[in-house]
Order: sequence, then structure tokens, then C-alpha cells
Amino acid sequence: MATNISIAIHGGAGTILRSSMTPELQAQYELGLRQARDAGYAVLERGGSSVDAVEVAVAALEDFPLFNAGRGAVFNNVGKHEMDACIMRGDTREAGAVCGVAGVKNPVKLARAVMERSGHVLLSGQGAEEFGRAQGMEFAEDAYFYTQQRYEQWQQALKEDRVQLDHSDKKFGTVGAVALDTFGNLAAATSTGGMTNKKFGRVGDSPVPGAGTYANNATCAISCTGHGELFLRAVVAHDISCLMEYRGLSLQEACDIVVHDKLVKIGGEGGLVAVDRMGQIAMPFNSEGMYRACRSADGTDAVLIYK
Ligand code: ASP
Repeated sequence: MATNISIAIHGGAGTILRSSMTPELQAQYELGLRQARDAGYAVLERGGSSVDAVEVAVAALEDFPLFNAGRGAVFNNVGKHEMDACIMRGDTREAGAVCGVAGVKNPVKLARAVMERSGHVLLSGQGAEEFGRAQGMEFAEDAYFYTQQRYEQWQQALKEDRVQLDHSDKKFGTVGAVALDTFGNLAAATSTGGMTNKKFGRVGDSPVPGAGTYANNATCAISCTGHGELFLRAVVAHDISCLMEYRGLSLQEACDIVVHDKLVKIGGEGGLVAVDRMGQIAMPFNSEGMYRACRSADGTDAVLIYK
């Protein structure tokens, strides 16, 4: 029985450049991270499951408009919000995911419903939305997802005819969480609006088990953030798990190889949060910063943005 309950969360690897960050804005980001982390940790503390903990933490980040998921999701190239999410449990390695969904307030909850009640792993677009309605998920009008800041980013990206990763020039979005519960079970969840001005129908790494999200009780739980196309090609989350399982590397060693070497070699900018079955946490990134926070029973407690 593991007692080192742990949680780590992220709010995206594309942080606002240090030069444009104000103390007020930084305080808001930190508040959003702390609230989500503590909500997830509270679940673990009262003996709840890691799946519940990551769902609660990610839903809190989705509800927080500064992060690119749920409310605050970025605009695609036709001015819509198309969201992706995934959740996975490490004990059974069951997974549920949705991609290209619109109007769903909390895509992570829909992903969980897919995992537990659809008989499938990944549902897309209208089919996922229909399933969500049948499952009693909460939906909202476009206005709920609209934020002025995202609209301006999209207009800027349109003008320059480029696809952009979240906030500004080279910014990623996405939120995610990983956790180890008191039963020794790992879980991971990720949710994203994707990339600003992405092509209608584009899907990144976040909802793909093994790429942006993965959990396996034998190794670790991982949630990624970064340039999805590269994370898909590098099958990042599963690669880290494999390095641990087949080469006997520690979580930190495996993360370092994938994030600071393999990804860098193909131009894959971003990072991830990870926890292993002992409750050890790693939060590596190769971008300027990554909104991140963690907490565990051994006293680890951090809320960080830059290196
Ligand atoms: N990985 C996400 C995607 O490509 C974006 C991000 O993490 O910001 O959809």
C-alpha cells in the first residue's frame, strides 16, 4: 500500500514570456494552479482514487479562463473552439478520450464517461457530443468559451497566417494532471483547446493514449504539453514508460532522455508532468517555462512558472 500520495499538474508549457509577465498576472496564474492542485490533493488525502483526483484537478483548470482548455480554449482557423481530452488509469490501463468536441464545459468529464460507459476509447466530434448529451454532461453556448485575449491572439495569428501554440508567439496551452493514490494506483488526464488557428479538424497529442497522456501502475503516469505534432511522432508518454519498464531507468532519467534529448532533436518544444509508483514527481520542460504545481505526502509543495 503506497502512502506517498502525490499529485502534479500543469497549465501548459508555453508560458507568457518573462518580460511580459506582471506580478498581478503571475499571481492569477499561481492562484489557478494552486486551487486545482489542492482540489486534487484533497481527494487523495481523504482516500479517494487517483482517477477522481486528476479529473477534479483538470476540471478546475478547465474552468479557469487563463488556461487553454474548457473555458478559455483557443480559436481554430474558422473561429471555433475544438477541444480534446483524455483520461487513463494505471491499474487496468483503461482509457477514455474525446477529440474535436465543441460546447462541452468539461471535456475531461466526457473523456471519463467514454472510458467507463461507452465501450470505446476515443470518440470524436458530433458523436462524442451526442454521447455527452446522453450522459448528462453540461454544455454551454459559444459565449462561455470566449475570452477577449484568445480572440485577439486568433486575429493576430490569422493576420500572420500561422498556427500558434496558445498565448503569444511560441506558446503552448493545455492542462493536465497525474496522481498516485493511497492504493498505489496511478492516473493521468489531459485537456486542451489545441493550437490557435489550427486547421478545423486537427487533433494533437493530448487525447491520444501513449502520446500526450499515459498511466501504467508498473511505471508512471504522464500528462504532456507542447507542440502536439512532435509529441505524437515521438509517442512521448509511452516512450518514458518504456524506458522505465524495459531499461530500468528512474522516472527522472527517462524524462530527461525524452524531453531534453529525443524531443529537442526533432524540434519538439514543450514539457510534461509525471509521477511514478513511489510518488516521485518529475516536471521537465524544454521551453522557457511551464505552468506547474505539485504536492505530495512527503512534504513536496511547489507552484512554479519559469525555470
Ligand atoms: N499539445 C497540445 C496540442 O498540440 C497543445 C499544448 O500542449 O499546448 O494540441
